[in-house]
Amino acid sequence: MSEISLLSLADYHMHTPLCKHASGAPWEYVEKAIERGLGEIGFSDHCPMPPWYDPDFRMNSNQMPIYQRIVDDARQRFSDYKVKFGIEADFHPGTELYIETLTKDYDFDYVIGSVHYINDWGFDNPDLVHRYDEMSIEDIWERYFFLWEQAICTGLFDIMAHPDLVKKFGHRPKGDLTQYYKGPLYQCMKMGVAIEVSTAGLRKPVGEIYPSEDFLKIAFEHNIPIVISSDAHKPAEVGMDFEKALELVKKIGYRRTARFTQRKIEFIDI
Ligand code: ZN
Ligand code: FE
Ligand code: FE
Ligand code: ZN
Repeated sequence: MSEISLLSLADYHMHTPLCKHASGAPWEYVEKAIERGLGEIGFSDHCPMPPWYDPDFRMNSNQMPIYQRIVDDARQRFSDYKVKFGIEADFHPGTELYIETLTKDYDFDYVIGSVHYINDWGFDNPDLVHRYDEMSIEDIWERYFFLWEQAICTGLFDIMAHPDLVKKFGHRPKGDLTQYYKGPLYQCMKMGVAIEVSTAGLRKPVGEIYPSEDFLKIAFEHNIPIVISSDAHKPAEVGMDFEKALELVKKIGYRRTARFTQRKIEFIDI
């Protein structure tokens, strides 16, 4: 069997130790991307948030210059390889202006938008998984996708991360789930926002790519750009399971993925 080439793919979702739950220097991630045969790599560590917000899973507000410096260092070490500079920004009502200001202050190639909280509940945090019992699963999904749609409508983000993250521990309503997907994906189309196909879900209890096949089918019908991402929190995870993701998106009908430079989109055939 011939080996699948990953040269047409970029991995844009990389963390750094600044977020307090990742390991390895940026240059080690770049080294891994080259070894895996990826065409490009991009960093997107968890951004700082306002002082009232949960500080535990992100860099501190004074660490942005360090973040920029360690990514620049990696770029200089591998000067003939494309290393992009991005950020993973939480969407949370009330923090929009903070994010807008932050993303204008730095020269990002792209901004990834994520929903990790429903009110004060970090629903993807394994320590808080008991809170799935506090509401009906329909209610939780409704709230999650409402926030996800609101995030798109802000226009602050180029790419939406791990689209159905709320399934991380396997909680999902019974029956047809497409009712949760259609509204947000319509807004993605209107706003020209891309979505991630994230292999991180394969490493989580749910054991599936984010998003589901049904979600991707609707995304494809709406002509929504995709990027394939690993959400690596250590160098060994760079480009992980990209062959599976590539196979999936091709099966759905996708023939190209998006690239970003200074927040402008372009497309590469896969
Ligand atoms: Zn993280
Ligand atoms: Fe995330
Ligand atoms: Fe991430
Ligand atoms: Zn993430």
